[in-house]
Amino acid sequence: MPQGPFTSSGAAQDTSPLGALAGRLQGELLTPRGPDYDRIRHVFNAMIDRRPAAILRCAGVADVIQGVRFARAQQLPLSIHSGGHSVSGASVCQGGLMLDLSRMKGIRVDPARRAAQAQTGLLLREFDHETQAFGLATTLGVISVTGIAGLTLGGGLGWLNGKYGLSCDNVLAADIVTADGDFLTASPAEHEDLYWALRGGGGNFGVVTSLTYQLHPVSTVLAGGLVFPAEQARAALRFYYEFSSGAPDELSTSASVGRDAEGRPVVSIAACYCGPLHEGELTLQPLRNFGKPVEGEFRPLPYLAFQRAHDAGAPAGRQHYWKSSYLKDITDGAIEALLEFAATSPSPYTGIGFQQMTGAASRVDPRATAFAHRDRHYDFLIVSQWEDTADSDRNIAWTRRCFEAMSPYLQAAVYVNNLGGTEQERVRAAYGVNYDRLASVKARYDPENVFRLNHNIAPAAAT
Ligand SMILES: Cc1cc2nc3c(=O)[nH]c(=O)nc-3n(C[C@H](O)[C@H](O)[C@H](O)COP(=O)(O)OP(=O)(O)OC[C@H]3O[C@@H](n4cnc5c(N)ncnc54)[C@H](O)[C@@H]3O)c2cc1C
Repeated sequence: MPQGPFTSSGAAQDTSPLGALAGRLQGELLTPRGPDYDRIRHVFNAMIDRRPAAILRCAGVADVIQGVRFARAQQLPLSIHSGGHSVSGASVCQGGLMLDLSRMKGIRVDPARRAAQAQTGLLLREFDHETQAFGLATTLGVISVTGIAGLTLGGGLGWLNGKYGLSCDNVLAADIVTADGDFLTASPAEHEDLYWALRGGGGNFGVVTSLTYQLHPVSTVLAGGLVFPAEQARAALRFYYEFSSGAPDELSTSASVGRDAEGRPVVSIAACYCGPLHEGELTLQPLRNFGKPVEGEFRPLPYLAFQRAHDAGAPAGRQHYWKSSYLKDITDGAIEALLEFAATSPSPYTGIGFQQMTGAASRVDPRATAFAHRDRHYDFLIVSQWEDTADSDRNIAWTRRCFEAMSPYLQAAVYVNNLGGTEQERVRAAYGVNYDRLASVKARYDPENVFRLNHNIAPAAAT
């Protein structure tokens, strides 16, 4: 029988291609029969059940280079796993090599330069833990167990976006292993086209092994949330739209609609003010004075505590199916459609949310980085989550109907990090005006589309 990359030679010294790869690594190579294989291939979204032929748990850049060269030589599908938090689950491949960077957690904070160079296996909470020791932070997402890598490469929307821009706006440099197994640093001074593409173009260009971020002074924030009952749901959403429309850069907000135990829609409004606390108190006063919330408060909190405050709402291991787009204005029509659907959601865990993109993030030129959707608007997201696979059809069908009902109010554009694994037809809309330039950069660094297990940008045809 001819030897494939994953057939063991059976000899004491494994001379198969896989055995040879294992001998060149500092990290581990997991095969389906090995311990940990199942644990590592299972990601945040429990709907993803793919079986890579092998998982390379990289110890560092040298292992990444070995993995990329191996997959290329053996013509194997190659997936990149950092935090494993994407809803698409593209980080796990079927039958190929899964490069797992989750053990690469080195970080060096330079307080004098207000910068941090971080390996891409870090989760948001691990990154924040280190930078907060110096009273520093950068924009990252709102669930602290997300990976910094996938989040930043797709854009990165979080509580500091109004004041400091998106995560990708704060990237000063990126180390990357390209399809040829070459190691490059992309920055304003080197490989400027790649530096541009990595700030919003997702995992299309290679394996990013570290990101250097600009940090900012952030310590105590005035933050929290309020929950409004069904009787006030409509008024709360109207108020939220008006209140968030006038928000200063220091204030970032979100709202979401869920359902209570009786199946009636309830509205939560969350906000984070990053600036002088006495000014925050004045800014939040109208929100504090509004309606009769059934629970919640706003108070001064360590930034780290607020970054972790929403984790319980999205535990790993549930089935997830999302639909998303941007929404410019929260009109009365959109509110009616939303409230009707929220009340019929088949799962008590499902939420329909608005994450506000505002201030500094909205003022960047759409072509200045690969992240095109620069406007003051809301990232609209139906987060359907449930536990039992027997309920999947019902939940997916409901999510699609809800999205359809909302579509008259939504823009065609979508945040690439919210796309599911079956929405390839929306990839152009996700990259918007930057798609063609991204395709040219792709042709330059990955002409054979080695990195295709993502929201894929086809390499531009040679002219
Ligand atoms: C509960 C939840 C909350 C979220 N909240 C936010 C939020 O507040 N703000 C926000 O902006 N986003 C948010 N997201 C979306 C999040 O940004 C994406 O899911 C992101 O892909 C997660 O990054 P990861 O490293 O964990 O992903 P992974 O699943 O590990 O990777 C996803 C993809 O990213 C690419 N990739 C990952 N690592 C690398 C690398 N080192 N080099 C090259 N490409 C790589 C690959 O294409 C990979 O398939 C949230 C997601 C979830 C599930």
